[in-house]
Amino acid sequence: MALIVQKYGGTSVDGPERVKSVARRVVETRRAGHQVVVVVSAPGDTTDRLIAMAKEISPDPPARELDMLLATGEQMSIALLAMAIQDLGEPVISLTGPQVGILTDGVHTKARILDVDCTRLRRELDAGKIVIVAGFQGATQDNEITTLGRGGSDTTAVALAAALKADLCQIYTDVDGVYTADPRVVPEARKLRCISYDEMLELASLGAKVLQARSVEFAKLHNVILEVRSSFNNNEGTIVKEVQDMEKAMVVTGVAGDRNVARIAIYDVPDRPGIARALFEALAKESINVDMIVQSAMRNGINDIAFTVARDDLAKAVEVTERVKEQIGASAVAYDDKVAKVSIVGAGMITNPGVAAGMFACLAEEGINIHMISTSEIKVSCIIDEEHLTRAMQALHRWFKLDQET
Ligand code: ADP
Ligand code: ASP
Ligand code: MG
Repeated sequence: MALIVQKYGGTSVDGPERVKSVARRVVETRRAGHQVVVVVSAPGDTTDRLIAMAKEISPDPPARELDMLLATGEQMSIALLAMAIQDLGEPVISLTGPQVGILTDGVHTKARILDVDCTRLRRELDAGKIVIVAGFQGATQDNEITTLGRGGSDTTAVALAAALKADLCQIYTDVDGVYTADPRVVPEARKLRCISYDEMLELASLGAKVLQARSVEFAKLHNVILEVRSSFNNNEGTIVKEVQDMEKAMVVTGVAGDRNVARIAIYDVPDRPGIARALFEALAKESINVDMIVQSAMRNGINDIAFTVARDDLAKAVEVTERVKEQIGASAVAYDDKVAKVSIVGAGMITNPGVAAGMFACLAEEGINIHMISTSEIKVSCIIDEEHLTRAMQALHRWFKLDQET
């Protein structure tokens, strides 16, 4: 008997037929003799609709109340799925994140899981029940409801798998695995049989939303092996795990694109110690994640600084930057939310020079201008105009021959 955690995404529980189909899969696993914990997301585009509803009421809804609202999406799914499983004759119980004891910090709308209390889960499993848990949510020490950031149900699943020391963590979604690029953007993308945590973490952080980046980070930290597969067929999926064999690593494993990017520039910043600190501390205090940062070469004792943030954070980031501008005596703040980030990822880059140059050559041949660049050992990212993102991803996929098995 194994303990299996299965996570089903929003598309997989969108409508009664799909809920019933998930129920059949879960029951099949149970009847094969396994203990099953199921994590579900809100149905279809429920979370998007809830956010839109909130914005109709208030342009900048308070994060605490937004979490109260968003957590309801997942609560619908757990109840409906439990009803469907009950109808198939298996004992089952649905639990919200707070009921399970998923303890998070207090950063509303992007909270981090601090601890999972397994007492209740174990008790229900030992009583022979299938346990259905609401993804994407938890509660603080003070019992305030929090959510874990978009795509957060993946992280719920991994956290439960880690806490319960599950034998397997399966992520069921609307594609049958992790591909060399989003198959909806690059039709010739190829399914990967296996990918390392590090590469998956980069791809996810750089926009491949098939897994939430934090879930991969968590999986790596706790050595949880993930299997990404389709809830609509029985195709073999993709295994995400620690891959030792760097020799065989592909130079480039995948291409990712991210539209949730905005660029902010602050001009004529005096060139003295403490300036970057003043700006980025102020942003951090508002829980704004800054991604790329570029400081221009100094001329006449002044610099320009440009950086990127998520588009949802743009308004607040501009407000903070304007405030810092006054404090430090910079001349102006500008922003652009029509940009996107295109990236290539591959563990083989460490030992293969010239990969970044290849990326720039490819974009140049497409006539696509690069606004900002950032590199790490296993990725290269470029900020480009959003209108070129799809073409850039397709061209890079061809350039690095990702459609061909090596
Ligand atoms: P779920 O609701 O099941 O969590 P998501 O929409 O969050 O599903 O993630 C699945 C989607 O991720 C796919 O439909 C696909 O368009 C997208 N995607 C982006 N990059 C990749 C990739 N490299 N491989 C597979 N899917 C990807
Ligand atoms: N429902 C949440 C979202 O849409 C969480 C998830 O689907 O993982 O982001
Ligand atoms: Mg998702």
